[in-house]
Amino acid sequence: MLRLTELKLPLGHAPEALPAAIRERLDIEPADMIDFAVARRANDARRKSAILMVYSVDVTLRDEAAVLARFAGDHHVQPAPDTGYRFVGKAPANSGGPRPVVIGAGPCGLFATLILAQMGFRPIILERGRVVRERTRDTWGLWRRGVLDPESNVQFGEGGAGTFSDGKLYSQIKDPRHLGRKVLTEFVAAGAPPEILTEAHPHIGTFRLVTMVEHMRSTIEALGGEYRFGHRVEDLDIAAGADGIRRVRGLHLHDGSYLEADRVVLAVGHSARDTFGMLYGRGVHIEAKPFSIGVRIEHPQSWIDRARFGACAGHPDLGAAAYSLSHHCRNGRTVYSFCMCPGGRVVAATSEPGRVVTNGMSQYSRQEFNANSGLVVGIDPARDYPGHPLAGIELQRHWESLAYVAGGSTYEAPGQKVGDFLAGRASTEFGEVIPSYKPGVHLTDLAECLPGFAVEALREALPAFGRQIPRYDHPDAVMTGVETRTSSPVRIGRGKDFQSLNTAGLFPAGEGAGYAGGILSAAVDGIRVAEAVAQSLVGAA
Ligand code: FAD
Repeated sequence: MLRLTELKLPLGHAPEALPAAIRERLDIEPADMIDFAVARRANDARRKSAILMVYSVDVTLRDEAAVLARFAGDHHVQPAPDTGYRFVGKAPANSGGPRPVVIGAGPCGLFATLILAQMGFRPIILERGRVVRERTRDTWGLWRRGVLDPESNVQFGEGGAGTFSDGKLYSQIKDPRHLGRKVLTEFVAAGAPPEILTEAHPHIGTFRLVTMVEHMRSTIEALGGEYRFGHRVEDLDIAAGADGIRRVRGLHLHDGSYLEADRVVLAVGHSARDTFGMLYGRGVHIEAKPFSIGVRIEHPQSWIDRARFGACAGHPDLGAAAYSLSHHCRNGRTVYSFCMCPGGRVVAATSEPGRVVTNGMSQYSRQEFNANSGLVVGIDPARDYPGHPLAGIELQRHWESLAYVAGGSTYEAPGQKVGDFLAGRASTEFGEVIPSYKPGVHLTDLAECLPGFAVEALREALPAFGRQIPRYDHPDAVMTGVETRTSSPVRIGRGKDFQSLNTAGLFPAGEGAGYAGGILSAAVDGIRVAEAVAQSLVGAA
């Protein structure tokens, strides 16, 4: 098979235009082409008056070698890559020893568990939160009634942090082994729409993620894996052997029980603050890392569609428009858009009582009225929270608590219109844009719950973004805050064997450990760590 890339056709082209374009580009007769399949589909909207669909296609030809020879040196005509996944090993028949344990049922933990189960290792997965259906009820409890369950919420429970999300499934990670393809293939097997395999910017939306997570659970259980919900890991049993190396021996759970374990995947996400504290207390290598802080901003989706697609806004092949923005400020800070959710809503994303955190989600259709995006400012340990590995967590807590108070201490989010924010005065009424955050928005001055440098940077960036997307800095656009959980505030160091730098048998993984940012990259990291666990077990057997 041959892969042809950068094949461009006008928006709205007829289906038969694609095979015709392939034949024309390869200069072949219809009889020379046996079959083709779209490998990737994107749009190029840089010229709004002439939006293009851009394809990569895998083509099966009668004489592939002859065509490749004719196009030698053309990097858009190449042999199709082998994207199939191969397991690194299989569990030995009688391996003895404890079963591998995965902590956390987010995308990282789920994929680590799935791969270990597919290799025959019968992993155990421990999750502090509840099964996804119960968790959905608990999460809506905060959104509808302002009642937070600290163990079952947007951050904690089956499916992890991205379950109630836009379900964007793309990432900038280097992926030479096409592990992202394995993730997408498993998602499709679990009920995701097949176009996620070909869309350049695939997304799933919230409701499908819920059923997919349930489907993955039954697959894992059928393969001998075991789920234990409501099981919060409270402590690690670590001991140094005769060789002086510290090793994990087991886990203490919240109910006082003990689980023997010598291979532990730590996939606890970026909000497991108590677990980070425990790891620090046990001397596991942990360090502060950069993250970002800011707000969510909302505009009518129609404004963004119009700005991005001009007269073609609303075309079914384009869907709701997304954007990605970045601005380097005079005060040395960078403001950028984060986790943009077209046609979605802003959600309450705290996992701790007395705090307010914003994030965004959408349904697969992306048809809600507003577009939302994080608008965040990068911060780093040396400048903003020096001196202690966990100082970033305290910084998050500080601003999240101030946001709770600024929102009226009822889990409403503090909010402000962009015009008022730029003018430095509190908002008192909404204008054209009605924010979507539930349980509600309390109008105020967001400067009360943001660091001064962030306020300064956002005030400079908003007009700059308005020059790129007309009406982005419209006085009635609404901002809510605070957005603090952009990525993990810590990194739990690991070596080339994926094990903790100073605790053998502990495999830090995913977003919480600082090795991923987003659903896809967390899932890919889960695969890589599962492979490392398998290799360590097979080597030991
Ligand atoms: P998590 O998903 O955070 O999973 C960690 C799990 O570990 C949790 O279920 C938690 O309950 C459990 N846990 C924690 N501590 C313990 C313990 N001590 N014992 C037992 N279990 C424990 N990313 C995207 O790519 N696209 C998006 O559209 C997107 N939208 C998002 C929207 C929202 C509202 C949120 C909150 C996040 C969104 N993200 C999105 C980010 C994405 O969800 C995360 O990057 C991803 O979930 C990280 O995966 P993970 O498995 O590393 O950690």
